[in-house]
Amino acid sequence: MLSFFCWRSSGRRTVQGGYCDRGGRFSVSGSGNDAGANVALAGAPVAAHWVGDRQIAPSLLKYGTEGQRHAFLPGIVRGERFFAIGMSEPDSGSDLASARTRAVRVEDGWRITGTKVWTSGAHRSHALMLLARTSPVDPEHRHAGLSQFIVDLDSPGLTISPIHWMNGEHHFNEVSLDEVFVPDDRVFGEIGNGWKQVTSELGFERSGPERTLSTFPVLAGLADRMGRGELPADPALGRLVARITGARQMSAAVAGQLQRHLPADVAAAVVKVLGTTTEGDIADLADLHCDDTTDPGFRDLVQTAVDHRPGFTIRGGTNEILRGVIARELGLR
Ligand SMILES: Cc1cc2nc3c(=O)[nH]c(=O)nc-3n(C[C@H](O)[C@H](O)[C@H](O)COP(=O)(O)OP(=O)(O)OC[C@H]3O[C@@H](n4cnc5c(N)ncnc54)[C@H](O)[C@@H]3O)c2cc1C
Repeated sequence: MLSFFCWRSSGRRTVQGGYCDRGGRFSVSGSGNDAGANVALAGAPVAAHWVGDRQIAPSLLKYGTEGQRHAFLPGIVRGERFFAIGMSEPDSGSDLASARTRAVRVEDGWRITGTKVWTSGAHRSHALMLLARTSPVDPEHRHAGLSQFIVDLDSPGLTISPIHWMNGEHHFNEVSLDEVFVPDDRVFGEIGNGWKQVTSELGFERSGPERTLSTFPVLAGLADRMGRGELPADPALGRLVARITGARQMSAAVAGQLQRHLPADVAAAVVKVLGTTTEGDIADLADLHCDDTTDPGFRDLVQTAVDHRPGFTIRGGTNEILRGVIARELGLR
């Protein structure tokens, strides 16, 4: 089993780089990207806290209130507070502006009704960063009227139903909300500013370390075995090492841009396209070289990577969509 995809449910962690609580003031030491990369390179289980590290903590620093930072960042720093992403809906994936989950103003807060889907790890997480419509669609301005909320996953009216993968794994969920109450202090950022905020969050997501390093333990295992002569040497390995090195450097450069509050949407999209394609190609090369004589531990690792391969280029926005984004920003369409 590829440990990288495992969920850790308890325990503390020590990493180089991350979000630090210095006497109640939050700041970034190294970056969440560094922290995630270090654990990813070691093949350690990161799925439980990668959403918090990669996109929620920097989004809280960018748009959160002081109260929200104090409520969530210490738990994220300790690796004890897990977040899920509530963007996709049954009829709204690539076209997020078509989201139909709606939030209606009530006394002291909002009531939210709708369905989110493909919600990774909602069954293991504490809170959901949810995108909802707070005013009706304006066909002239489709991206207006969206807002974000931090929703406790044990809220009354919220149901989490598993969606199992073909291999039996439970990663995805459908999250249904039936008039779930969210108090005013859990409104994230500004009402009506959801599109801008979610686009910024996706910038953090798309350039995150696991967009380049998900299958790094497979690459390392392949190199070891080819080095020892257990598998035949293949020049494709060298090409993949070069590609993963380039993608990793680009991911770190984008993290630096984001940390300096500079725009990096297009660069993040490029990292996601190049990084996730490389991750998948690593899985394929290893699969090509594995047979009945390969040790069972490595074979399992490769099989897990192959099982997860289709998701690499889909999650966080499909590579087809991202190529369109890149082309548009380069003035090619
Ligand atoms: C492993 C994994 C984890 C995920 N985790 C989460 C999560 O935690 N939270 C969450 O909210 N979502 C999550 N998702 C959902 C993911 O964000 C969506 O699957 C993705 O945005 C695509 O949306 P869709 O599935 O509705 O496909 P669609 O938008 O219906 O697209 C179907 C196909 O059509 C193509 N397509 C659509 N529009 C265009 C276009 N304009 N130009 C060219 N091609 C187009 C797409 O590229 C795709 O191949 C996850 C997905 C995966 C695979």
